[in-house]
Amino acid sequence: MAEKFIRNHEFNFIRKQVDVIKDSYKKGSDKNVINAVKDSAYSKIIDLFPNAADNQLDVLDLSRLKTEAEFDHYLENASSFLLLFPNITDQQIKKMFPKNKKLKMPNLDSIDLESITYLSWTDIGTNKKFLIYEMNKKLVGIECRYNLLSRNNVCSFCNTHGQVAFISSVTKAKKINNPDYYKAIGNYICFDSSICNQKMTSVNYLETFIKEIFQENG
Ligand SMILES: [Zn+2]
Repeated sequence: MAEKFIRNHEFNFIRKQVDVIKDSYKKGSDKNVINAVKDSAYSKIIDLFPNAADNQLDVLDLSRLKTEAEFDHYLENASSFLLLFPNITDQQIKKMFPKNKKLKMPNLDSIDLESITYLSWTDIGTNKKFLIYEMNKKLVGIECRYNLLSRNNVCSFCNTHGQVAFISSVTKAKKINNPDYYKAIGNYICFDSSICNQKMTSVNYLETFIKEIFQENG
């Protein structure tokens, strides 16, 4: 079995490209158009994996796919190369939020580690949303306040329209001369992180958001 190499959001991206190709078949586009769509999809996909080995490129190659069954098989095969979100224990989570003495814990058993780019859960009682993400091989935790909005909006993380909450971070980025200062960084993000994780095709925004929070602000 070859090494796993596809992250959740990359898989979402691949699925989206497959949908584009399927669409051009459904529209009855001619062969040249379909081939051009396939070429473009493939080049966008392999751009995500600049260091892909030949056997990995084979997994990603979709030039020969035509039927619905072939597309399904392609995605199913690609999904067997999905990387897992790092296994994390309750103890590790508590350590990530040392100031929160009444930390509400996520139900880790209910989370499919193959299907998330970031781990998130909410504490409705205190209006807090927690995020954990692996950045540069290190797990980072972020505690945010949230306000659920009555109107749908575009989520900054997955860039799609849906039920969003306005979140502002309350962790890290302390001012050196004032340890109680918390930099507030606001964003609209999906209230339901499992939906967000299904739609996310890039981590650019998420990583920028995290970097900003952890940036020294002295
Ligand atoms: Zn989202």
